[in-house]
Amino acid sequence: MHMRTKFILPVALAAVVSACGQGEPSATDAADAADAGVVNLYTARHYDSDRALYDRFTEQTGIRVNIIEGNADQLIARMGSEGSASPADVFITADAGALWRAQNANLLQPTTSEVLTDAIPANLRDPQGRWFGLNRRARIVAYDSTKVQPAEIDTYEEIASPRFRGKLCVRSADSVYNLSLVGALIEAWGPERTAEWTRGVVANMARPPEGGDRDQIRAVNAGVCEIALTNSYYYIRMANGEDAADRAVTQKVKLSFPSLAGQGAHINVSGGGVAANAPNRENAVRLLEFLASPEAQTAVSAGNNEFPGNPAVPVPAPTNAYADFTAHPMSVAIYGPRQAEAQSLMSAAGWR
Ligand code: FE
Repeated sequence: MHMRTKFILPVALAAVVSACGQGEPSATDAADAADAGVVNLYTARHYDSDRALYDRFTEQTGIRVNIIEGNADQLIARMGSEGSASPADVFITADAGALWRAQNANLLQPTTSEVLTDAIPANLRDPQGRWFGLNRRARIVAYDSTKVQPAEIDTYEEIASPRFRGKLCVRSADSVYNLSLVGALIEAWGPERTAEWTRGVVANMARPPEGGDRDQIRAVNAGVCEIALTNSYYYIRMANGEDAADRAVTQKVKLSFPSLAGQGAHINVSGGGVAANAPNRENAVRLLEFLASPEAQTAVSAGNNEFPGNPAVPVPAPTNAYADFTAHPMSVAIYGPRQAEAQSLMSAAGWR
């Protein structure tokens, strides 16, 4: 697995020597020289604020970030086909269920880092250190405040209740966000009660699933439905973004943080781990540690309205206005192992 590193060593050394000239760090430590300058990041996140953050990491460490973008399943397939020759050092994506897919395909390796385990609570990361949740989001309910009282939608059970027959908008069953939510319900309620819930959800659908979470929020505003499932950051971005029409939507459509089994809202993460065959392993860990730092946590939250995964970091505006809720303490690492069961319950209920 280190073959590749050794192979490129002469080129890397030459580059270091010619770039630094005399008096700069010597090239006698071959391993350091080979690993000094780069980390290859496979990421399913595409935020401008993330790119600015990687520039900041480069400024602080001298480590250049090569960004390879794709959706999670594309990047997982790519890493799988690249095998031991994969240049991937770090894999980053949204949703613990998607991180688990990479873990389950043996594409991530355990990382031991006190910086990471100090910064990130145990329930937001893989117990074996193969991935770390860096940012949090809640999967919750947007509702029409002219038709729905907040108390009518403060539990997950109520999403499936007869009160909302034909009045629910929700995206498709293949969304990993929904698979993770249903996995969490199975964990909390068991499979039978969750199966009943999925049947209630299907009965409540105002239309067959279409579009993303923001489309569901807009459909509530348009009167297509009274409630919708959404991730928190989509709503917060609409309420605070550039688009005047989206801001207007959030005048009527409000956000509820339902409680699961009396313990709080369903939480998920975006995060990352070190790739199984990372040629620049130390740099990979440094990048993850940087992303868990207060500076990076604040920047990510300010940029895309997730909540910091590191509880010591205050939530910056405008997201802080939505941060006063109870988060369910369940480990997000259980969503992946429940994914197949969730899929089969949803499919049996007719949730397409
Ligand atoms: Fe998303």
